[in-house]
Amino acid sequence: MRFGSGFSGSAGQKLKLVSLALAALAFFACSGKQQEQAASPEMGAAQGGMTVEELKAMPKVDAHAHVMGLTEAEEGPFIAKLKEHNFAWLDICTIGTKWDSLQLQIRDAERLRERYPENIEWATSFNLQNWGRPDWQEAAIKTIQEGFDKQAVSVKVWKEIGMVLKDPDGKFVMIDDPRFDPIFDYIQSQGKTLVAHIGEPRNCWLPLDSMTVNNDRKYFADHPEYHSYLHPEIPDFWKQIAARDHVLDKHPNLRVVGCHLGSLEYDVDWMAEHFDKYPNFAVDMAARICHFQVQEREKVRNFMIKYQDRLLYGTDLAVGAGFVSTGPDSALATIEATYNKDYKYFATDEEIEVWEVTGKFRGLALPADVLKKIFHDNFRKWYPAS
Ligand SMILES: [Zn+2]
Repeated sequence: MRFGSGFSGSAGQKLKLVSLALAALAFFACSGKQQEQAASPEMGAAQGGMTVEELKAMPKVDAHAHVMGLTEAEEGPFIAKLKEHNFAWLDICTIGTKWDSLQLQIRDAERLRERYPENIEWATSFNLQNWGRPDWQEAAIKTIQEGFDKQAVSVKVWKEIGMVLKDPDGKFVMIDDPRFDPIFDYIQSQGKTLVAHIGEPRNCWLPLDSMTVNNDRKYFADHPEYHSYLHPEIPDFWKQIAARDHVLDKHPNLRVVGCHLGSLEYDVDWMAEHFDKYPNFAVDMAARICHFQVQEREKVRNFMIKYQDRLLYGTDLAVGAGFVSTGPDSALATIEATYNKDYKYFATDEEIEVWEVTGKFRGLALPADVLKKIFHDNFRKWYPAS
């Protein structure tokens, strides 16, 4: 997707925006059984809730988004769109096994943070292409330190750890590998946060016709190479979760935000168990809100109210060159549509339909103080500035 020429200013500099991310970063979807819920007209702005307009006007943070290759000419329309919705982005730099790309993302993030501190926060990452070399760990910490010096609030680890990266003996490297401990200790010592996309939705290990949401089904149909159900050599879903949980056990004073609902997306009860067990753990919702939408509405609503301090709104929206581009004029529209549909889901109890979910469902009409935490306050709590 890209801006039309009306926004791009010159024919050679079109701003490309995509609703999913880095090539390998999946914009996972949702579908499946739908819960028909009775309307709950008791909630709304008059009852301690918030209208869509009030939510749009409130300062917010999208705690999971990506920028790569955005030119200076493209910055204006992008930042203007964020300001229109009163959003700041946590721009997450990612994929250590693609070091050239990661360095470009870091360069962009540093520039944007410097120029637009009100709208851009960022997370750095580190090289994994040099995995196994004697100096890889030292180099990783140096890159992280440089990021912190440029106001990065977090360090990203991606699903390549557990699903792609291997040792010379052919064994997959898992996130609880002791060789990562000094990295995590360093992040903790600097008062920063680990943002961890580990594993995939459980759907990734299921056949297409058993997946619960349509965007997962579409993604894995389009990308069989990432469909773990077809690749039994990849450590399974439970091993991915166990390795991530082992990190939480080993580093109880390290703040960890699990991307994509911490890969616990399929059951809010299971997520709740993790929150109870690990006080140092929160999750962002990026590309997984549909997994709430296929679960029972009141259960999800009660869960969000109970764990209102542990949930961060996020989308996985992405902007910049190097991303998938599918046509003119659709980029701004994707950002606009994503935010508008999410305002409606969280703030109202209206009937809603989205392509990711089969069937209709109702919005959650969350109380105003819960919306304020999920969309704003929790970000600074889980990603302190210093
Ligand atoms: Zn992402």
